[in-house]
Amino acid sequence: MLFSDLGLMAEIQRAVAEQGYDTPTPIQRQAIPAVLAGHDLMATAQTGTGKTAGFTLPILHRLASGRTDRLSRTARAPRVLVLTPTRELAIQVEESVRTYGKHLPINSLAVYGGVGINPQIASLRRGVDILVATPGRLLDHVQQKTVDLGGVEIFVLDEADRMLDMGFIRDIRKIIALLPAKRQNLLFSATFSAEIRELAAGLLHQPVSVDVAPRNTAAETVRQQVIETNREQKKDLLKHLFATRGLHQVLVFARTKHGADALARVLDKAGIKAAAIHGDKSQGARTRALGDFKEGRLTALVATDIAARGIDIDALPYVINYELPNVAEDYVHRIGRTGRAGMEGEAISLVCHDERGNLKDIEKLIKRDIERLVVPGFEPAAVAAPRPPQPPRPPRGGQPAGRSPGKAAAKPATPPRHRSGSRHR
Ligand code: AMP
Repeated sequence: MLFSDLGLMAEIQRAVAEQGYDTPTPIQRQAIPAVLAGHDLMATAQTGTGKTAGFTLPILHRLASGRTDRLSRTARAPRVLVLTPTRELAIQVEESVRTYGKHLPINSLAVYGGVGINPQIASLRRGVDILVATPGRLLDHVQQKTVDLGGVEIFVLDEADRMLDMGFIRDIRKIIALLPAKRQNLLFSATFSAEIRELAAGLLHQPVSVDVAPRNTAAETVRQQVIETNREQKKDLLKHLFATRGLHQVLVFARTKHGADALARVLDKAGIKAAAIHGDKSQGARTRALGDFKEGRLTALVATDIAARGIDIDALPYVINYELPNVAEDYVHRIGRTGRAGMEGEAISLVCHDERGNLKDIEKLIKRDIERLVVPGFEPAAVAAPRPPQPPRPPRGGQPAGRSPGKAAAKPATPPRHRSGSRHR
C-alpha cells in the first residue's frame, strides 16, 4: 500500500512525498481510513511508529475539506485540539502539523508552560485551526478566557498513558467537559492499562481499535546489554565507552535532574560534547539542547525520564542507562528511543550492586534476561556484596587506596530495593 492509496487530498500527499515517505506505516494504514471516515479511534502505539502522521494527515484532510464549518465561526476558534503530556511533544506534534499542512490554508499553534503566555494569547486571538497543548497551560488560557474550546470538532489525546502517569487526569477531565458534545475523539497510548480503558470508555464512542505496538516491542528489537560495575566507576566507564566505541548521538539517562547536570559536566570536561535536559531547565535551554543534539553539535544528551518523553529523533543509535529507572516500564520507554522504524538500536545499562533489584524487575517485565557484558578494568569489585561488620583497625599507613572497608560496606548497607520508592509518581 502507498500513501496515494489512502484517499488523502493532493496537497497532503505532496507534503508527505516531500518528507520522502511513500509507504504508510502499519498504524497509518489502519488509523488514516478510520479517522477519514469520522470514527473515534483507540490506538495502542508507541512513539516511533509514525502515529503522529497517523492522526495529523487525516485531520488535515478533514479540516481542509470541510471549510464551510470554519467560515461560519466568527473568531476562528480551534477546530482541533491535541493534548500532549510534555512541551517537547507539543512542539513536535505542531511541527508535524505544519510540515504536512504546508500546502493548505490551515494554521496551528502549540501552547505549553514554561514560557510567556502573552505571545500565545496574541496568536490565539489571530485565530488557530489546530491547537496543540499541554493540559496545565491550556487550562491557564481557559481561565483567562483567551481560548474558546466550543468549536472543537476533533479531540486528540496523545500519549494518554503518560498523561495519566504524570497526574493529568483531573485536568484532562476538566478540558473534556469544555468541549462540544458532538466531536470526533482519538486516543493514543503506548499501553492499554485498566486506567486507560476506563478513560477510553468515557471518552470514545464506538471506536475503531488499532493496535500496532504490543507493549514491549522495543524490548524485542533493540539490542540490550548490561555492564555490571561499581557505582564509583560508572563515570569512568561511561567515558571509556564513548572513547572506545566512537559513540555519537547518545541519549544518556540519569535518575535525577541534579545527576543529569553533573553527568553532562563530567562528559563535557572529558571532551565529549554534552548537555542536560530536564524539568528545571528553561524551555529555551531545552529546545536549544535538543536542536544541538539533533544537528550533531552535541555527542550526548543527558536526560531524566520525564524530560525525554516525546523526544523524537530519527535514527537514534544509542541509549545508555547511566542509572536504571525506578519503574521498570520506564526502561521500555527509554530503550524505545532507539531502534525505531526498523533501525538497529542499542541500549546499554550500567548497573551497580544496589540496582540489581531494579534490573530483576525489568527482566521480569520484558520476559527475558539481558546480556551481561564485562568491560575489563570496570568489573564489579568482589567486595560489593554485604560484609559482616569489620573490627575497627588502628589507623596505619600503607592501606590500599579506594577499598577501605568503610567505603565498601557503606553501599551494600542500603537494601537494594530501598531506592525503588518512586520519586516522581
Ligand atoms: P512518531 O511515531 O509519530 O513519533 O514518528 C516517528 C518517526 O517516523 C518520525 O520521525 C516521522 O517523521 C517518521 N515517519 C512517519 N511516517 C513515516 C513513514 N510513512 N515512513 C517513514 N517514516 C515515517
